[in-house]
This record gives sequence, structure tokens and C-alpha cells, in this order.
Amino acid sequence: MWDVALTPEIKNLLLLGGDALVYFAALAILFRARHRLGIGAFFCALGVMHFIETYLASIFYVAVPFGIVTSPGSTVLFTGKLMLLLLVYIREDATVVRQPIYGLLIGNLLMVALAALMRHHDVVELAPGRLADMGFLDEMGALMVWGTALLFIDCILLILLYERSRNWFGDRALPRLALAGAAVLSFDQLFFYAGLTLVTGAPISVLVGGWAAKMAAVAIYSVLVWIYLCWLEHPIGKHRSAPRISDVFGTLTYRERYEDLLARTGRDALTGSFDRGRLETQGRRAIETAVYAGQPVSLLLVDIDHFKGFNDRFGHAAGDAVLKRIAREIMAAVRATDLVFRFGGEEFVVICDGLASGPALALGERIRREIAAGVDSTTSRVTVSIGIATCAEDAADYDSLFQVADQRLYQAKHAGRNCVIGERVASAETPVRLAFSS
Ligand code: GH3
Ligand code: MG
Ligand code: MG
Repeated sequence: MWDVALTPEIKNLLLLGGDALVYFAALAILFRARHRLGIGAFFCALGVMHFIETYLASIFYVAVPFGIVTSPGSTVLFTGKLMLLLLVYIREDATVVRQPIYGLLIGNLLMVALAALMRHHDVVELAPGRLADMGFLDEMGALMVWGTALLFIDCILLILLYERSRNWFGDRALPRLALAGAAVLSFDQLFFYAGLTLVTGAPISVLVGGWAAKMAAVAIYSVLVWIYLCWLEHPIGKHRSAPRISDVFGTLTYRERYEDLLARTGRDALTGSFDRGRLETQGRRAIETAVYAGQPVSLLLVDIDHFKGFNDRFGHAAGDAVLKRIAREIMAAVRATDLVFRFGGEEFVVICDGLASGPALALGERIRREIAAGVDSTTSRVTVSIGIATCAEDAADYDSLFQVADQRLYQAKHAGRNCVIGERVASAETPVRLAFSS
């Protein structure tokens, strides 16, 4: 029936279109089901196609209108695979999309290595003439390794171009898909053809015909991926149907638990101040942001004096109560925007965004005085020593700032404890060291 109605070229063209639709539909369904099946199912199916794709690209060519000769291996399968990998990147991220690329590359290298090893077997002929075609495997192996090495570069270029094209097309996915696909597949066609002609002696018409067919395939796949993105998997928060009442309660309960967990994460269980992990992330970031913005930022390192002796005399439970009280005193003295961290056993770090050295010294002195004045539950008085450093006069980054504050704390201990040491710049050339103590 085909032969009666259509020329062979038109029939081939329609068949290529049908191949592409079947290929895309099956893989898109698997991709869509990744949250239920796991993305491994999609990747396995994509990987299985790789062998037939290279096989067809090396040997199976069809004629389509305008004198173009192309292979379904390149047009349907390879182009489709690249556009699907771009879809994986768009919906997931770069760490997910690199998995099949590494897998294909390593799998192909392994195949070549195993084939090289296996040719040393003494083989048994199953039936006359039925022997493995190792020469074919060599040819395929070389092409597959070359093809996947190219795929590696293609994918990086594809993602970079897709991201870059946001500058020109904004959030419009269709022109971005088409542009990135067309550019990368043109590049790929040139280099794959170089390998192909080296291994199989393919004529130049394969380069030109393959390129034209790949461009047509990019156009079709761009539309298919775009349809998928618009209608089959909505971006988060878009086009969502109204949730049912039970969903709302589920979400609320979940959110409540999540927020509770979040509030406790990164907090020190004893004192309620932020913990050292948070200092490394949030504290460091606060200082970096202030430095970047050219704002002053001060770091106060507070250490309880002779705390070991206190514990030894009054016991650890009393020591814990003192730690709690001191954390409370510090948190009461600072502004709401300041950050208080328990850095070590009996050491606290306070980060005050926007606080210059003079006010930071005054704050340190206030904290010292409050703590020294407060009579703890036992008989002994507890005091603290404080070292203060300020960006940008003392240091230009978190680590150096911390180091300066630490040195000043050490000096405060040597100065007899219960004192605050910071630095106030009286003039640019002659910094004056100030120390308060009782
Ligand atoms: P300095 O004035 O030189 O800082 O002397 P120090 O005794 O405070 O310093 P040192 O570093 O020798 O001792 C710190 C003590 O802090 C040791 C430990 O018993 C106490 N400590 C650390 N974490 C806790 C805690 O969670 N609870 C209690 N009760 N004590 C703690
Ligand atoms: Mg200490
Ligand atoms: Mg101490």
C-alpha cells in the first residue's frame, strides 16, 4: 500500500517521523514516571538504545526527499538522546544528567576492553560459518567510544548554550531548545563524520545529508520537549490544581514538623544559641556579605574564666546552669540581628553585622559587666574575657578576623581575665588598643 501511494523518499521521511515519535513517547513516559520507578529505568532504556544507534549510524542509511541520505541512528536516536538529556538537565540538574554520560563512556570503554580480551579465547564453531565477527566489534567499539566522547562534549555545550540563550530569549524554552540543539548537533555532525569516514570510508554526502536531517530532527524534538515541559510536567507551582482538604492538612502538619526541625537544627541543645556548624556556614556568610558590601562587621569571642575550676568545685550541673545563664545574658545584650554561636565548651562567638570597632568594644564591655554583676546560683562569681576584631580594619575575611579576635582573647586572659580587648582606630596610622577590666 505504501509503495502505491508514496515515493520511497516520502515513505522514509514519514517512517523517520514515526520512529522519532515512538522513541520520544516511550522515553518521555519513563522519564515522567521517574518519581515512581526511579530514574534508573529511563537511563537503562536510553543506554540500551546506544548500541543500535551506533550500529545504524555506521551501516544503515535511507534516502529522503531533496537528495538527502541519512541514518535513523543519527537522526532519530542520537539527536533524540541529546535532546532528552537536555530535558533531564532542565527538570533535574547537572549532577543527574552527568550520570548517563559517564555510564555510557565507561560502559563503552569496558566493551572495547572486554572485546580485546575475548579475542584471545580458542573458540568453538557452533555450526559451519557461525563465528563471532570480532572485526565488526572493533569497528563498532571504536565508533562507540568516539561517539560517547563527543556526547560528553556535546552535553556540556548543550547545557551551556541553553543557559546562555536565556539572555536572548528569556524564559521561552522553544527557541532556546532549538538554538542549543542546532548548534551542538552541527558541531557533533562534523566530528562524528570525521570518525565515521576514518572507520567506514563514508562519503561527503553523508556529512551534508546527515546534517540536514539532524537539523530537521532538532526542530521536531524541540517541539516535543517543549510540549512535554509545558503540558506534561508543569514547573513547580505552576498550573497546579487546587489541593484537596486532606492534602492541605497533610502539608500543614508536614510543614509544622519541618519548621520545628529547622528551628532546632543548628542550635546548641544546652544554651539554645546557634552551634558551631552554623557558625561555619551562616556566620562565615554574614561576614563575607558585609565585607563584600563594604559594611563594618565585628566578631566577639567570649570565653568563661577559670571554668574548669568552677566545674571542679561546684560540679558539671552547676557549670551547665552557668553556661545557660551566660548565653542568655549575651543574647539579651545583643541586637536582634546579631548572631550568637556556642563555639566550643565554654566559648561563644557573637557576629554583629554593621557594628564598627567602637560600638563593638562598648557591647563587649556591656556583656562583660552584666555577667560579672550577675550573682549565679552558687556562691562563686563567674566572669568572662572577650577578644574583639572588626572588618575591615583588623582583617578582610572570616578566618583572619577570627584569628585576630582569638589573639585578643589570649591577651585578655594574660591581662588578668574579666576584661575586653578590641582595637579602635584613632587614626588610620596609629591604632589604639583599648582594654576594659574590673
Ligand atoms: P581560662 O580562664 O583560661 O579559659 O580557663 P578555663 O578553665 O575556662 O579553660 P579550660 O579550656 O582549661 O577549661 C574549659 C572547661 O570548660 C573544661 C570543661 O570542664 C568545661 N566545659 C566545657 N564544656 C562544658 C559543658 O558543656 N558543661 C560544663 N559544665 N562544663 C563544660
Ligand atoms: Mg576556652
Ligand atoms: Mg575558659
